[in-house]
Amino acid sequence: MIKGRVLVVDDEYGIRSGVDQILELEGYEVEEAETGEEALRALEGPPFDIVLIDYRLPDTDGLTLLHTIRKRKMDIMTCMITAYANIETAIAATRQGIDFFLPKPFSPEDLIGVTETLLRHKALHREAEELKKAHEASLLALASEKSQTHSLVTSLRDAVLVVNRNGEVVLANPAMGKLLRKEEAGLLRKPAGEVLEAEPFAPVRAALGQVTDENAVMEIELGDQQFMVSVTPFHSEKGEVLGHIATISDISEVRRLALEKSRFIRTMIHEFRSPMGAVKSILEVALDKSMGDGLEPYLPLLDRAEKRLDGLVELIGNLLSLSRIEIEGKKKVAFEPVEAPPVVKEVIELYREKVQARNLRVEVSLDPGMPRINVPAEDLRTMMVNLIGNAIKYNRDGGTVGVHASRLDGKVRLDVADTGWGIQAQNLPHIFDEFFREKKKETRDIEGNGLGLAIVKRLVDRAAGKIEVQSTEGAGSTFSVFLPLSQSR
Ligand code: ADP
Repeated sequence: MIKGRVLVVDDEYGIRSGVDQILELEGYEVEEAETGEEALRALEGPPFDIVLIDYRLPDTDGLTLLHTIRKRKMDIMTCMITAYANIETAIAATRQGIDFFLPKPFSPEDLIGVTETLLRHKALHREAEELKKAHEASLLALASEKSQTHSLVTSLRDAVLVVNRNGEVVLANPAMGKLLRKEEAGLLRKPAGEVLEAEPFAPVRAALGQVTDENAVMEIELGDQQFMVSVTPFHSEKGEVLGHIATISDISEVRRLALEKSRFIRTMIHEFRSPMGAVKSILEVALDKSMGDGLEPYLPLLDRAEKRLDGLVELIGNLLSLSRIEIEGKKKVAFEPVEAPPVVKEVIELYREKVQARNLRVEVSLDPGMPRINVPAEDLRTMMVNLIGNAIKYNRDGGTVGVHASRLDGKVRLDVADTGWGIQAQNLPHIFDEFFREKKKETRDIEGNGLGLAIVKRLVDRAAGKIEVQSTEGAGSTFSVFLPLSQSR
């Protein structure tokens, strides 16, 4: 194996061949160049480890050649060999970046010694370069990791506070500053007990003061907001606790939804219990035969029981619809856009008996050439069943129910109007809430569970539509549903 490649540039044949012989015997591969031009040509070829340059060359001088080598940023060790060694040339050569200086005449041992030193230097130099590169790369990685972590913590919506072993704040993100209504930079180095001095933070302070390795989770209240706090210890590589990280998340919305849900369930239970109670009492009367042995006197009661059970069945159906809409959410289910007129007619047909019984007049105006609506047929049917059903239920005997469909900038507008009891202005904002029913004497005996409009509203929302209501107490109401038309005809 060769020790290294050496180029010797000298116009003196004796020097060139001497160097060549001595170094080749030592295991080096040597090339010779007589002039600067030859040297540059040789340097274009396979790389050299060392170049030995005579100070004086026929076509140029050694310093110019050195300058060219340095300019080309070659990974090569340079040594000047010259008989004209004086202090000025040495200084000039060092300035040009020469690595070594070997005055002529030199002994074979001098030459071998210098070549070996240069080769060692080169190896060290390369090692140093590699270390530098690795160091730079790791610094870069560290910097980008640091800035990533920083921007991550900064943009977190949860408030984060990092406290060291001495209980001092070492990091607070902007959300933490906002929560404490303080500049986050001003929190640094302060004792955590001082930063979290407000009374509601007492359990957090206690958890931060603990030396245990346990993760603590707690809920606190600040004003009318609820927060969940988690205090987690963090460790050194050896496993010792270095401090704690407290994250504080606003759970007010989650709490509000949970409360709403439990209210819903309470109302639902009540809605189940009251018809069941009524039916049970009726059955008790019948079983006790308190109105005699014949069936006749009980018939009105049994009729009533049947109505309450019908109401219960309807309630179950409505609850199932609500939960189906909730579960399906905004999931895109493929459906055929629907043609409105046949659905409206079908629903009106459904209510024919009721309309006749109440002596109502039904006015329908539907444009038969209307494009399809971008809603599943079942959803449009449910909307119409509820709206037309209400227009009949909350109407006066002999009143009118109107159903009109018209086109309006890429949407269809479906109006369901009645001449009934109307809705009080203050109740209009609640009309689509679950279980909401107006309490007034005119409509007191009308059966219902307050879920129909809630279902309609959710279906309209899911179809990216809109529902509006206009009502005059004592005169009637109009519900207008705006639904997107299908793009395809
Ligand atoms: P339900 O009819 O079963 O009570 P809805 O959700 O359909 O439930 O309606 C909620 C409430 O809105 C009704 O109880 C009633 O007070 C009022 N309402 C709905 N539609 C009309 C209407 N067309 N005219 C007057 N009041 C109405």
